[in-house]
Amino acid sequence: MNYSDLAIHTFTTKPWSIDQCIEEYARRGIGGISIWRETVEGEDLCLVSRKLRDAGLEGVSLVRGGFFTGKTEKERRDALEENRQAIREAELLELPSLVLVCGATVGQSPRENYEQIRDGIGAIADDAANHGVRLLVEPLHPVYAGDRSAISSLKVANDLCEELNHNNIGIALDVYHVWWELDLAEQIQRCADGGWLDTYHICDFKPDQSHLLLDRGIMGEGCADLVGIDDMMTAAGFEGRREVEIFSSKWWERDQGEFLDEILYAYDKIYRSL
Ligand code: ZN
Repeated sequence: MNYSDLAIHTFTTKPWSIDQCIEEYARRGIGGISIWRETVEGEDLCLVSRKLRDAGLEGVSLVRGGFFTGKTEKERRDALEENRQAIREAELLELPSLVLVCGATVGQSPRENYEQIRDGIGAIADDAANHGVRLLVEPLHPVYAGDRSAISSLKVANDLCEELNHNNIGIALDVYHVWWELDLAEQIQRCADGGWLDTYHICDFKPDQSHLLLDRGIMGEGCADLVGIDDMMTAAGFEGRREVEIFSSKWWERDQGEFLDEILYAYDKIYRSL
């Protein structure tokens, strides 16, 4: 099977080292990879980048930067520094984009968080462009609005991109976070029209999940209308890769090769018949 239209986030197969990810993804004919900073911690990033090239894997994004909010100016300044570091890492890995989980600070209003995010991204957008790294805002499900991201819908992410009006800022759309939005088709089209529809993460949303973060479903295990969303992406002209991003403590306890094969089986069933 050829999975050149597919990418995998290294956090999906969290127990694997970067070398195992590269080898196992490439062996299955997967075309792309998004790399989590955790997976390459302590690694020689130039060497990793060479290994990606040799394996024929195309890098999509470094995951993740963001967390721009904070009660003090120092916290917010430190966040910018951390993001600049992530941008340099993306450049060394030759990854063209950095996914941003934008942040939210307990005790601040959603509006305060939003404004700090806007100012934070605005402060590093030129720097990122100079390093050839595009910044991608990932709207998160509102259940994370307390301490992870005040960008809680695709509409708000679109509003943010519109307000920032910077050609180095786009959006990473993840079905887990946006499947429930009533105006999703309209917002996906708006995102594409604005030139922000950069990347596309897939998994599934299980209504009975046992953990807020670490019990995401393989495609088909949950209630998101994956085919409907895929149609919206196609209708909006999206031509990039689908990227599988699943956090699952249950699957991480099992053989990761088996997990990846289950993912590909589900992918074939849902996306190949389109
Ligand atoms: Zn995602």
